Amino acid sequence: MRFIIVSNRVPFSFSESNGKVDLIKSGGGLVTGLSSYLQNFRKSFPKSDYQWVGSMGSDKLKLDETHQKKILQQKLQGIFLGDEELKSFYNGFCNDTIWPLFHYFPSFIEYKKEQWEVYKKINEKFCAHLLKILKPTDIVWIHDYHLMLLPGMLREKMPELNIGFFLHIPFPVFEIFRLLPNEWRKQILLGILGADMVGFHTYDYCNYFTACVQKLLGFEANMGLISADDRNIKVDAFPMGIDFEKFYKLSKSEKVHEQMAKIKTVTREQKIILSIDRLDYTKGIEKRLQAYGHFLQKNPDWREKVVFMLVVIPSRIQVPHYKQMKEMIDLMVGKINGSYGTIVWNPILYQYKSLEPTELSALYSLSDVAMVTPLRDGMNLIAKEYIASHPDYRGVLILSEMAGTAHELGEAILINPYDIENVESAIAEALNMSIPEQQERNQIMQERLKRYSVKRWADDFLKEMISFKKNQRRERTSQLIGNSLKTTILNKFQRSKTRLIFLDYDGTIVPFSRLPKIAKPDPEILSLIDKLSALPDTKLVLISGRDRATLEKWFDQKNIDIVAEHGIWMRNGNGGWKMIKPFNNDWKKAILPVLRLFADRLPGSLVEEKEFSVAWHYRAADSKLASMRAQDLTNTLINLTVNLGLNIVQGNKVVEVRNAGADKGSAALYFLAKNKHSFTLALGDDITDEDMFKVMPKNAFVIKVGRGQSVAKYFLKNYKDVRIILKEMTGMFSNH
Ligand SMILES: [Mg+2]
Repeated sequence: MRFIIVSNRVPFSFSESNGKVDLIKSGGGLVTGLSSYLQNFRKSFPKSDYQWVGSMGSDKLKLDETHQKKILQQKLQGIFLGDEELKSFYNGFCNDTIWPLFHYFPSFIEYKKEQWEVYKKINEKFCAHLLKILKPTDIVWIHDYHLMLLPGMLREKMPELNIGFFLHIPFPVFEIFRLLPNEWRKQILLGILGADMVGFHTYDYCNYFTACVQKLLGFEANMGLISADDRNIKVDAFPMGIDFEKFYKLSKSEKVHEQMAKIKTVTREQKIILSIDRLDYTKGIEKRLQAYGHFLQKNPDWREKVVFMLVVIPSRIQVPHYKQMKEMIDLMVGKINGSYGTIVWNPILYQYKSLEPTELSALYSLSDVAMVTPLRDGMNLIAKEYIASHPDYRGVLILSEMAGTAHELGEAILINPYDIENVESAIAEALNMSIPEQQERNQIMQERLKRYSVKRWADDFLKEMISFKKNQRRERTSQLIGNSLKTTILNKFQRSKTRLIFLDYDGTIVPFSRLPKIAKPDPEILSLIDKLSALPDTKLVLISGRDRATLEKWFDQKNIDIVAEHGIWMRNGNGGWKMIKPFNNDWKKAILPVLRLFADRLPGSLVEEKEFSVAWHYRAADSKLASMRAQDLTNTLINLTVNLGLNIVQGNKVVEVRNAGADKGSAALYFLAKNKHSFTLALGDDITDEDMFKVMPKNAFVIKVGRGQSVAKYFLKNYKDVRIILKEMTGMFSNH
């Protein structure tokens, strides 16, 4: 097995200055986390190999042998891009459009068509590069918002490839996501859905993504599965962890203790509040400074007893918003130090630079309080690293409820970063928290971080990906019926002594219509049914979800068997109707009002009442709204019908409630058992037909109408193709 990891950045890149090519180490949680995972990769997947693909700098660089060797050693595959396109990709669409949008800063969004075009082009370049190295058996794991179109592009070229995608930033709610131009937002969703498995840090992001897919693409979704046209996609939450042991051990090392001693000579007995972030408007640095200033004003006793260690790591300075923000921070630091500082005390110690791991660890270990208060953050690993760097369980974490981490670190002091009063009182609470209380909280959080480390995160994702693909492959082997297969079916039909044909009605032999009542059989299908049922030794079973009165009216004079209400009622030839087993329908009284309420709320939807089932149809309603309502209704019904012995089925633009124990499968079995037939054919189009498909004998021809997940071995595109094949069957005998 070979794993291909794809991300915008890899652990290092190259850049040229004064004619010399330098190697630049990349930082950031994603690269750090993946690097440490891959170092011990074989522990998780013995005998497997991996390659890590990502951009490594300008295509003008001339790399020498030592550079190439270094790339090879680390199992990297570098992608080299043009200087201009690199700039307008990373600083452009990635960080001027997607970043502010996904972090809820709509006013910062740039809508530049040229940048979107570059974004597409870079994704295409990644795709082209991958196609050169990929084998069909590879497992491809694509990371983050720079490459959201890539899964779809790869899927198009290699339909069977196992592809995973993980988003490391938040996925926004629909009302925010919809701000993107129609074409872009659609392409982005379809791009991500090229993956088989899509991962986010929290369940909220999973839900927001799924809702956007339902509303903008009209795909159905259920229990973390999205049904696209040709396959299912799994969406799940995998909160990323850290390499706990690394941070834990480092904090106990001698080097770090030396660093701590150095810092101590400056801070002496003062309590330290740590604030460390990459320069970014999402991190809430200004709001945090504001709250600290407010704290000093309200708590004069704490002056000279506390110091705010502000570390800002330079980033994206070419983007104007970042530059402005840097100036603002400088100004605020000056103002607070000027207002509250004394000859012997600076309220804020400010550094604008990157830190070495030992410096970072020393700051983590030494700080009494860490403030991680982003306005919005996909995960935030700094919070986790801070907790891991305290072997003595001391230290208080003040954590924003807007960070993905907040779902896991509930023992921290959770705050709303926009609420200055709230943050101010959190600072006071943190500084006054007793040691035993700190220890109690941190011990719980450390245990959790130890268990769900970065290794566990990546293992979970990859193993889930592998098992999901296995299932997907098992379930979806259906093949479009072409001419040669059609000939095989027709020949077998002709040669067989006795024949049994199961036909679903709606969507299988007639087209869907906006209202179920008008889907009356047309003359062509009625004549086809007449001819088919007149063939010697040929039995026709019409197997439908419709009520028996309607079917009786439409097919009264026909020499066929009929199954109504998905298997509750059966009519054998011209004999009367009988029930497959006794059912009651008392539950209808309770369920119908709920369905009616949903029908009232969604224009174009309607309720159909049958004897032993009820259905809510929404084919004629607005599809975006409808798929969301369908999900709501299903959830409501699941809660209402626990223990009632009912089944809730989401069919093709319909949600149906019916008695459990009767389905098309049990009905079909009844006919299969009655007589042995040498030719069996089953045709159906939606999820209720799957029950019938499952019980078909091995030698039967099982055909789904339309694409999509199915146990059927074959599929036809639509009802017209069904009619063509049925017509040819009747023609086989007309010459004799
Ligand atoms: Mg149907």
